Amino acid sequence: MGNALNWCYFDFVARYKRMRGFNVHFPQGWDCHGLPTEVRAERTFNIKKREVSVEKFREICVKLTTEYIEKMKAAMQAMGYSIDWNLEYRTMDPAYYKLTQLSFLCLLQRGFLHRGEHPVNWCPRCETAIAEAEVEYIKSDGILVDIHFRTERGMLVVATSRAELAPSCVALAVNPTDARYVEFVGGHATVPIVNRKVPILADELVDPQFGSGVVMICTFGDKTDVRWQHKYGLPVVKILDAQGRLTEEGGKYAGLTIEEAREAIIRDLKQQSQIGSSQPLSREIGTCWRCHTPVEILSAPQWFMKTKQMTEEIVEWTNRVNWVPDFSRNRMVDWAKSLDWDWVISRQRAFGTPIPVWYCRDCEELLPAREEWLPVDPRSQKPAEASCPKCGSRQLMGDADVMDTWMDSSITCAVHAGWPNGLSEFERLFPADLQPNGYDIIRTWDYYLMARHLALFGKAPYKTVLVNGMVRGADGRMMHKSYGNYVEVTEAITKYGADSVRQWAAAGGTTGYDIPYRWADVEYGRKFLTKLWNAARLILSSLQDYDRDFSSPGLELLDKWLLTKLNDLTRVSTEAFECFQFSVTMDSTRNFTWHDLCDQYLEAAKYRLYSDRAEMVESRRAAQFTLFHTLDVVLRLLAPICPHVSDALHRELWGHRAVARSIHLEAWPQPKEQLTDRDSEKKGTILVRVLSEIRRIKSENRLSMKAPIKRLSIQSGEEVTRVVLDHIGAIREIAVVERVDALPLRQETGEKPLEDIDFRLVAEF
Ligand SMILES: [Zn+2]
Ligand SMILES: [Zn+2]
Repeated sequence: MGNALNWCYFDFVARYKRMRGFNVHFPQGWDCHGLPTEVRAERTFNIKKREVSVEKFREICVKLTTEYIEKMKAAMQAMGYSIDWNLEYRTMDPAYYKLTQLSFLCLLQRGFLHRGEHPVNWCPRCETAIAEAEVEYIKSDGILVDIHFRTERGMLVVATSRAELAPSCVALAVNPTDARYVEFVGGHATVPIVNRKVPILADELVDPQFGSGVVMICTFGDKTDVRWQHKYGLPVVKILDAQGRLTEEGGKYAGLTIEEAREAIIRDLKQQSQIGSSQPLSREIGTCWRCHTPVEILSAPQWFMKTKQMTEEIVEWTNRVNWVPDFSRNRMVDWAKSLDWDWVISRQRAFGTPIPVWYCRDCEELLPAREEWLPVDPRSQKPAEASCPKCGSRQLMGDADVMDTWMDSSITCAVHAGWPNGLSEFERLFPADLQPNGYDIIRTWDYYLMARHLALFGKAPYKTVLVNGMVRGADGRMMHKSYGNYVEVTEAITKYGADSVRQWAAAGGTTGYDIPYRWADVEYGRKFLTKLWNAARLILSSLQDYDRDFSSPGLELLDKWLLTKLNDLTRVSTEAFECFQFSVTMDSTRNFTWHDLCDQYLEAAKYRLYSDRAEMVESRRAAQFTLFHTLDVVLRLLAPICPHVSDALHRELWGHRAVARSIHLEAWPQPKEQLTDRDSEKKGTILVRVLSEIRRIKSENRLSMKAPIKRLSIQSGEEVTRVVLDHIGAIREIAVVERVDALPLRQETGEKPLEDIDFRLVAEF
């Protein structure tokens, strides 16, 4: 349902814009690569990526992805998304990843990329580097233990939840203002277990309130350790390997997992009486967004895009872009400013775009692919140039890594515009007018799109970002299979039809905010369509002899009332679409159709439509004109949200044409200002209220609407009285009343004057 919501927003805009005369470029890209598929493949086939060859693993991933695409495509087509399927592409196809590789080479040439050994976030289960955007922080329970460190001046106690990292401790640190430890600063401590002598530093980042106020600097326990290592030039002790096991640096603990090592070290420290009290600790830890394993910090050679230096530029362009809703702009700005590290773009995985470079084994020279070699997979292919350009060695080794999947999807705006071919088309289609996505990927998709296009083209890639919220289950929680509140979009379509599901997407909540998935909302959508369908049947049957070119009827009060309201609706709907407020247009169109058109006008106009009296000819034609015009406009207003039903009815409404045209080729309606009549709107409202009060009284008395009223007296102020007197004929016909008396309320009788258009109604049956 989350995808459905996101896609509905695309499609509402695309269909609306087409009706406004735009030639909408609406491609469909499948973002295939990445961890989700790999993790799914590993779980489905119970394998690990390193147990099979890269080719075999990739093959499995391609197969899985193809199956998912087929399923999703079927659902998307059932939802009626007006995608141009000629513009469909898959990022796992060589034709696409060739472009990712080309963009990599361009950035390399321009100095935006660098390769080096730096600490990065690492998932030990997925065995790959991950970006800051891929780390999810969760609350987790741990245990804080006090470890004793010997120093020249006595013992220091370090409270830590990561005892297993002690063998990688390269310094202790205290806050410079912490009076307890002033004399220790500048001295040395001995790390238990490994008996390493490490310096005791003073740094203002140490929180004196946490634990004992003394911390271990381990390389690397967290991001602060990385900063301290850099700041103080501390040595790096690589304590964890790619699978999260302790390395040789861990001495006797080598080969143990993190948990095993923690237990063993605490046990041994206890035996040596080097551990004090322990207490439970609840803290935030970073986890892998895909498999939820706690993330570690590992230092290994990786490729980076230099995004840190771009922060100011990114913020500046972000501020120039239109964000819907406006608060999403702040999310992007805050995110850009919060990043500590450059974007790590290499992944130690299999299912991704290969990094198009080789290295010389002898002199370590880098040999990037040439543009004409692309697409290329250096994991299995040799470069077309057989020797190192620097030393002539023939020992060339392809990069074994792949790129972060966001490297594929962060050039989409340029690719859609035809890059790198067709400059004139590029100028026309770049930047994109609209970038629609969920708020959960502002920090990834929107951010990376911005960074990459700024680096490649010096321009923001989009003019407007349309952000959708998340879909929550009926219980208010995020929709998730394990919560039992999960609904498949195909199930919803089967039960209520695509146009009902689309109405939920439009009216379920305000653009940009989370919306709950409630079956009742979809059911209401279905009820509305039934109401519309029945009303349209009645209207269509009454238009059999209607001359559609008939243009100057003598409109009556309620005709003018309805047409004025229709003009207002058209204006409100247009403004709402212009600022992507789909719930506003949906709610107002449904209210107008249900209440003003069906409940009021149709009920009141029936007698005119079915009359064959000669003196009624003109009146009948005016009602026909009103209904034809109203239904035509309502269907057009509904077309972007309910494309199926509006199209079916539109074809019937215009069925006299040789070829009935799709509503999706028609123009968006404009208010017909010559039909706006505020005086009639006001008087019409009075008449409508009187009529509905009569209906209410009849139903209160359990009488049919056709049951005659012998005498009706209406008591009211001057305004209502005048309207009633002017339309006695209509009231008698519509409400089946034999005699109507309108009595102005006399102030001198002591009656309280009725406000505005209030009235009292007494009926004798
Ligand atoms: Zn993971
Ligand atoms: Zn070389």
